[in-house]
Amino acid sequence: MKKKILAIDIGGSKMLAGIVEMSRDGNTEEGAGWKSMILSAAGESLPAEMTEEKILEKIRTLAASAAAQIAGTASEKETLQEIDAVGVTIPGLADERVWIYAPFSGIQNFPIAEALEQEFGRPVFIENDVNACAIAEGLLGACRGVRDFIWLTISNGIGGGVVLDGRIYRGAKGFSGEFGHLCVAEDGELCGCGKRGCLEAECAGPGISRFYARLTGEKIPASEIAERAEAGEPAALETFRREGKVLGRALANAANILNPARIILGGGVARAWDLFYPTLEETFRKDIFRRANEDVLIERTALGYEAALLGAAVLPIAD
Ligand SMILES: [Zn+2]
Repeated sequence: MKKKILAIDIGGSKMLAGIVEMSRDGNTEEGAGWKSMILSAAGESLPAEMTEEKILEKIRTLAASAAAQIAGTASEKETLQEIDAVGVTIPGLADERVWIYAPFSGIQNFPIAEALEQEFGRPVFIENDVNACAIAEGLLGACRGVRDFIWLTISNGIGGGVVLDGRIYRGAKGFSGEFGHLCVAEDGELCGCGKRGCLEAECAGPGISRFYARLTGEKIPASEIAERAEAGEPAALETFRREGKVLGRALANAANILNPARIILGGGVARAWDLFYPTLEETFRKDIFRRANEDVLIERTALGYEAALLGAAVLPIAD
């Protein structure tokens, strides 16, 4: 079975669109045999002020340029007509049809699935971006056949997706898995949510910068601190040791509640894995309820930098 999916990832500051071929052979177990191939991809940054109309306009443009990359002698329009379905990931909260809430703009209750079905004439599937990454990890990545796992993205913010018994766990109001707002430091850094000491405020990219600035007086991006740590600079190394420690304790608390088989980390900060993983592992092992959680594996995403686009691509094939 083969399907061509138009995958759209709407991020907080940029949008990606790509055409992804999803295929599976008939002999494999249910859900275990999907493969993906990204045929084309196009991306652009998004303006700070976003409206429903601007988002639709950007999707139109990026879908056309993703189609143009593989069109050959056909037109973009003909290429888009070969699409079987559209998958869209959004920041914030979505139900099956409607983008209910966006954290960074005034968008609320935007019936985006309907608007895109009119645009492309194909079924449209939408999902929160981190939940979509978790679904993709389960179908294509490190969690094939794993029924219970946590997916955590650590970049400019921290978001989580929880898969329990093979399905995304959503919670009473759809906001389950908000690991970014676990309280990890009393009177700590101010978080965007209004609280102090949230995991996101302490351990996402800006939190890493703030901690390093407290040690050195110098404010530089987390990616640069990682480079300095790799070069052996003591303050940078200390910053990532502390990152691992705080993350390790938060993940141990999460594991003690949920008893997952695996915890998967993705997002830009996860690229500095070798710098923070040793203290993360050490703190995690110390803080878990051992009898329940000593087999929990903590791993990097197997989807690499393409996790976001693959998250959108799997939505039409996930049940
Ligand atoms: Zn918070």
